[in-house]
Amino acid sequence: MGRLIKAGLTGVTVFLWILMAGLLTGCGSRSGEIAEETVQDENIETEATIFLPETAAPFPSAATSTSAAPAVMLAAPFPTVPPDAPVRTDGIDGSFGIGSASVLRGKNILVSLFLTTPDNAFAEEEKEICLQRLKEAAIYIEETAFGYGVETQFILDWSEENSQDLCMEKKVDFSISDDSDFMDALDEAFAQWTEEDLSYERLLQEYGADGIATCMFVNAPGRSYAIVYDGEDNVRESLVMFVRNDKGTEEEPAVYAHEILHVFGAHDLYRGEEYSRAVTDYIAANYPDEIMRSVAGEGRISEQISRITAYHLGWIDEIPETESFPELIR
Ligand SMILES: [Zn+2]
Repeated sequence: MGRLIKAGLTGVTVFLWILMAGLLTGCGSRSGEIAEETVQDENIETEATIFLPETAAPFPSAATSTSAAPAVMLAAPFPTVPPDAPVRTDGIDGSFGIGSASVLRGKNILVSLFLTTPDNAFAEEEKEICLQRLKEAAIYIEETAFGYGVETQFILDWSEENSQDLCMEKKVDFSISDDSDFMDALDEAFAQWTEEDLSYERLLQEYGADGIATCMFVNAPGRSYAIVYDGEDNVRESLVMFVRNDKGTEEEPAVYAHEILHVFGAHDLYRGEEYSRAVTDYIAANYPDEIMRSVAGEGRISEQISRITAYHLGWIDEIPETESFPELIR
């Protein structure tokens, strides 16, 4: 990915292009105003004038232990598993420090991607509700981080001027429903979009951000999940957020927060998922309202990010629990 091809357009073309882009994305309603300001201001940097260096490497890159995937390494300069990383024998893979959303510090971008399926599209108000929930989740995480002495900020608000590239729409020709086997097809389509249509590298440069992930919203009931890079597969991390949960009620901002935390290294702490019964029983007894354990479903986020998850996110360097439960080591 050397550079964008839209360089050198005239002001009028830029105007038309931005206007069209605004109309096509369908996010926000101020594309006309922004386009006019762009034409009036000769010095403004639009996408038309942004270049990436030929060897763009917004993240420190680390070679994998094998060179089995050179194509991925070239296309995606995101941190991968260091060659000297100890191999875990307990089967617990983490995404802390690797992938496009590597560390929950500094600035991280969350792009909203609204999915149109043969059964469901998004109305404008529905998109705004998704954005509100995403904002709530982000503010909750930022404030909790601050309590741990960590500064972090999400860049996600596509309703703001000149931020419409944080929102896009995509279409698939298959159904997303409980009884359809959509996951592989969706993951494949999603991987292609994050690779080709949504330049993570360009957005990082444009916003001066440290990390990035995409939240794909699906206007259907379902169980939200994170597509986490743990050393294999796609380093461009992302989330699939259903508007309603699998019981059909509106999804909780706390669930969005839970999924966002996953791409930065948080683990599921509920029984039967990642850890032994001894660990999950300990968490249940000592941190019953831990957000990676359960979500109460009260509308507002009332869960806590315990020191266990804070450690998994790298907000704190050690916790006494790793003595008794080495599997909790991040
Ligand atoms: Zn989870």
